[in-house]
Amino acid sequence: MSKLKLLFKRQYQTPEELLFEKFQIANDLFEPWKDYFEKQIDFKSLLKEYEKAVINSNKVMEEIKSFEECYICSVIDKKGCCKAGLENEVTVNIILINWFLGKEMPMEREVAGRCFFVGPRGCKIFARPYLCREFFCKRLQNKFSQDEYVRVTQAIAHELTLLYQLCEYIKREYQFLLGDFLMEMDLTGYS
Ligand code: SF4
Ligand code: SF4
Repeated sequence: MSKLKLLFKRQYQTPEELLFEKFQIANDLFEPWKDYFEKQIDFKSLLKEYEKAVINSNKVMEEIKSFEECYICSVIDKKGCCKAGLENEVTVNIILINWFLGKEMPMEREVAGRCFFVGPRGCKIFARPYLCREFFCKRLQNKFSQDEYVRVTQAIAHELTLLYQLCEYIKREYQFLLGDFLMEMDLTGYS
């Protein structure tokens, strides 16, 4: 069956159904081909570079106290922007990248009314969607100095460039292996 037939539906019975559909597609792609990807030296090196970039962005965000401000905003002020539904920003490709990196993906929502991936101390996933990484609200922008804002946006731009390259690599490789267009790999599917 053509993978094109798996393009996401427009309506779902439960808030998690679309995400579970993505997990299923990711699993069907990952299990039979993980060893194949493991053997690709250029893939492994791109994956490593991306992992280093995420660690570096997180370090910069720690240093400029971005995570701390988000914690206060979400947990103490009961505001926060990781709302229910935003889990759909996680694409099949993002799930695959987490698995290729050996990172666990939570399989149930821990905090009611919040994004599926939120835990008591914030986001629980390693490879995060573009939107989650590039969004800096007014509260954060007001908190950062000019230099801090430049530092963090440079780190994130590097990380997201590598994320894009990885997503393209994985999609291109699966399209070659399966002889099919895998349109749903980068779709959020709810907009
Ligand atoms: S990004 Fe802004 S709105 Fe979202 S949790 Fe952080 S401080 Fe709050
Ligand atoms: S940062 Fe994590 S918890 Fe927040 S919306 Fe994105 S995926 Fe969800």
